[in-house]
Amino acid sequence: MKTSTPVSKLPHVGPKYQKRLQKLGIRTVGELLFHFPNRYEDLSLTTPISSVKTDEKCTIRGEVIDSAKGRTPKKNISFAEILLQDKSGAIKAIWFNQPYLADSLKKGDSILVSGKASRSKEGLQLINPVYEKISSSPLHTARVVPVYPETEGVSSRWIRFILKPILQKDIPIKETLPQEIIKKKKLFSLSKALRQIHFPASLENAKKAQRRFSFERLFLIQLMLLKKRASLEKNRGLSIPMDIESVKELLSHLPFTLTNAQKKCSWQILKDMERSVPMNRLLEGDVGSGKTVVATIAALTAIRAGYQVAFMAPTEVLSSQHFEEVSKLMWRFKVDVGLLTGKKDCIRSQKLKGDTVQISREKLLQKTEKGELKILIGTHALIQDKVRFKNLALVILDEQHRFGVEQRANLCLKKGAVPHLLSMTATPIPRTLALTVYGDLSLSVIDEQPKERKEVITRLVPPQKRNDAYGFIREEIKKGRQAFFICPRIAETENKDSVWAEAKAVEEEKEKLEKEVFPDLKVEMLHGKMKSSEKESVMSRFRKGKAHILVSTSVIEVGVDIKNASVMVIEGAEMFGLAQLHQFRGRVGRGEFQSYCLLFTSSHKEKTRKRLKALVESRNGFQLAEKDMQIRGQGDFFGKRQWGIPDFTMEALKDKALVEEAREEAKEIINKDSDLKKNPLLLKRVGSLEKKIHLE
Ligand code: ADP
Ligand code: MG
Repeated sequence: MKTSTPVSKLPHVGPKYQKRLQKLGIRTVGELLFHFPNRYEDLSLTTPISSVKTDEKCTIRGEVIDSAKGRTPKKNISFAEILLQDKSGAIKAIWFNQPYLADSLKKGDSILVSGKASRSKEGLQLINPVYEKISSSPLHTARVVPVYPETEGVSSRWIRFILKPILQKDIPIKETLPQEIIKKKKLFSLSKALRQIHFPASLENAKKAQRRFSFERLFLIQLMLLKKRASLEKNRGLSIPMDIESVKELLSHLPFTLTNAQKKCSWQILKDMERSVPMNRLLEGDVGSGKTVVATIAALTAIRAGYQVAFMAPTEVLSSQHFEEVSKLMWRFKVDVGLLTGKKDCIRSQKLKGDTVQISREKLLQKTEKGELKILIGTHALIQDKVRFKNLALVILDEQHRFGVEQRANLCLKKGAVPHLLSMTATPIPRTLALTVYGDLSLSVIDEQPKERKEVITRLVPPQKRNDAYGFIREEIKKGRQAFFICPRIAETENKDSVWAEAKAVEEEKEKLEKEVFPDLKVEMLHGKMKSSEKESVMSRFRKGKAHILVSTSVIEVGVDIKNASVMVIEGAEMFGLAQLHQFRGRVGRGEFQSYCLLFTSSHKEKTRKRLKALVESRNGFQLAEKDMQIRGQGDFFGKRQWGIPDFTMEALKDKALVEEAREEAKEIINKDSDLKKNPLLLKRVGSLEKKIHLE
């Protein structure tokens, strides 16, 4: 038997079971072996019958002294019942709907049963306990029993029954971890770990087996990332000298001073750009921590050295916002800035006296290719084939998926050098996950908010207080402030198209607000079904204060910076992840005004309350990330982001120490053997992992 042997070759697995197993993703013996229990029940200690207590779990070893089947008088349900005896006493066990058990558990049989005892008129009894005839090695009782992810027709009991004989023989699988690591880290060998994860001798052994597999997965991911990084470092990059004078001049014209965290991160980035190895750096900072100005410092440095910069943002609204901000800062350096979005392309230059003028796509691309345009800001359009830079040295990504070395290289006219990459995110990634997911990136964290910023007061508003909340919002607007309303997509809609459903939700909310709640105020809306020119004019009107309320989908989520807005209302707050809610909240409190975030929910679920309470209590995105990971388990936190990392590995990530250990070991190997040529087995495993996990 091999791990690739189809399960259909196993005894007791016919076409019916084959199909059922497929539902669990099990086609081969190997996949069956790696179908791990998700928990264990410790039934290892047996209890004398006389010590059995009501409502307590117990395992009893005894002899059947009577067995019978029958039907209940009222409901006519069939049952089997036995009387079980040990030295200390006797107890009744009953199974409903399984009358045949009376035939298989016969008088004189020695058996084990596990379950909870309940009290009846006739004394203590066990209802539907797990049972097993006594053999030399019990499977289902009197031990630490594995409980598996199940599907219809495939019970844990059945899985144990099928697995046991495979594990009793030689397991047809090669050790995958290097021996030195197994020794050094005191890990179970693969075959021992497999045996102990399925049929552990003790709970402690089960933990040790899990630890080995967790370690292995983390180790392989780290190997993959470090190998990638090593191969990236073999590329040539452009060494960009620091230009302290220009940076100083830029800073001297800002209306604020940088926070220490911003200074530290800028320094790390500029240091990295000085190296002739392409930078691969993630700039992580909570919403409002001021990432844009840090990116602008990097951009200016590259431009002063005579190079070009590409700055990519996820939406058109954000691209134009960056365009505004960056071009203001670049003005005194006589730097032309271009904006390339889906449709409207424009440029702002000294020659045009700082006015923004529309320009044809063709012209814009020409200027970029000739190197006349020093910085091009835009959406995805930036990485289209037609865009070519003369001497691109830095790519900045705001809240984007990562993008590979080849893609970067393709943007350059001259092949050879790979531009530096600065990727920015406000998603507060727990450090262990950052190490894993972005392990091949260097990490800079802005872990400090500008001092003068006031905390956003967050409240969970119960349904009966809704009108009070509206009253409060009206007061704020009277003072001259503005408010955002975010609504989730309507779940009940027949149309499955999410953009459409979101649009409908936004339209309905807008109508309600302007007809019923705030008939005297100007309400506008923003959603994904609108044309980009419409979206931009809505944003620009709102920015200029021409509307009081902006109803929106989650488009508003990242980056929008409107200092006059002081209220963020979130409808159906339970529909969003904590990270996302935190992002929404970050849209307000950007100016000098005290700001508020009001969460509406009609959900009474305990988990929802707990999550929303966490948001009310915590201002720190990083803490929230950790908390959400604890409350919800794992991947959920990242919403739609799919990395293809299996749940099991996400679980392993919670163990910070283990992540660090795995990383250290992987480092040691890559340092000696950067392309894994000397470790063919590891190379093969890393190769197949690369196919599964997509981090770009
Ligand atoms: P984010 O990190 O969310 O992208 P931004 O870069 O949009 O944050 O900055 C948010 C706001 O804070 C902007 O209006 C910016 O001008 C301002 N800002 C940035 N750094 C500072 C600072 N050190 N002190 C005060 N305000 C700052
Ligand atoms: Mg931003």
